Amino acid sequence: MHPFLVAATESLAAAVADIGRLVSVESPSRDAERVAVGARCVAELIERETGMVAEVMESPVGPHVVVRPSARPAVLFLGHHDTVHQVGSLEQRPFTNEAGVLRGPGVFDMKAGIVQAVYATRILRDSGFDLSRVAMLFTADEEVGSKASRGLVEEMARSVDAVLVLEPSADGGALKVARKGTGTFDVSIEGRASHAGLEPEKGINALVELAHQVGVINGFGKPELGTTVTPTLASAGTTDNTVPDRASIVVDARVVVPEEKARVESLMNSLQPVVNGAKITVSGSLHRPPLHESMSAELFALAREVAGEIDGRDIAGVAVGGGSDGNFTAAIGVKTLDGLGAVGGGAHGVSEHVIVETIPFRTALVAGIAARVIAG
Ligand SMILES: [Zn+2]
Repeated sequence: MHPFLVAATESLAAAVADIGRLVSVESPSRDAERVAVGARCVAELIERETGMVAEVMESPVGPHVVVRPSARPAVLFLGHHDTVHQVGSLEQRPFTNEAGVLRGPGVFDMKAGIVQAVYATRILRDSGFDLSRVAMLFTADEEVGSKASRGLVEEMARSVDAVLVLEPSADGGALKVARKGTGTFDVSIEGRASHAGLEPEKGINALVELAHQVGVINGFGKPELGTTVTPTLASAGTTDNTVPDRASIVVDARVVVPEEKARVESLMNSLQPVVNGAKITVSGSLHRPPLHESMSAELFALAREVAGEIDGRDIAGVAVGGGSDGNFTAAIGVKTLDGLGAVGGGAHGVSEHVIVETIPFRTALVAGIAARVIAG
């Protein structure tokens, strides 16, 4: 058996226990206090297992966990330690390890991935690799758009040869070789309130304007290019007998082709009202650029080679709709491979889970790719 796979198999029980520890600390995005406790747990894990110094770096949304070696690193392990799950999810769905399946809030996206990166680093150390070539960053706000961490993500990526993103894998363990660029727009409509019975003609109905704009926005997609523009939330009105003076629409937008970003942003910013007197204000952008497959191709080829060396298997790569911090690193021209984390499913939902028997191979795979990047 490949020595990395031997080591990862021997440490499986310890890795599962550490995944349980991380899952058992709730770290919902924007809850800075809880996210801080989660960050300390991640930092402790890194220091205990690898001997590296992990810095807990404060930010307005809770701390990021940063490992920055003094020398110039070759590889950056990238991920996030916040989750989408609200406080109390853990009480309803505590961490469990039954029938070879781990469950619990954030286990798949992406606490198991953090643990796999840490254990892969330990394998590198135990195999004589110089850990000053390894950097790590686990951010506090990826699930809410990475506003507080984007600069740090880009800065750390600029100094390495390859970014390995420990986000969960796609179906059956496939790596993520391309990701859509993503963004959210808020469309705010202003009308004028009036009594719906006494003098409706004096009102400017923001809801009628909303109904028109939803149809317009829905036509901005270009499926043939992979562009989707989807109105997802809407609200209007105050009481059942008042002409609504306000309405709002939230729009989810995704692009595959980098040029589509400008087209969608310009269309969103030029919405024209049709109801006399209504005003439309649009904010937002496609803030996460696409991870284009040209940025992952080389690392994906390397990953397939390493997978073959480890246990003779091939590994698939797929393009996915969701974005990650890997989009930022690819967009600034740093080689990036995503989806290297856990194998399982149900991200962001109650069926979230990780398959235990996949952990050793994934850990060995990450160590193997990093080893090859470090070796040049
Ligand atoms: Zn994630």
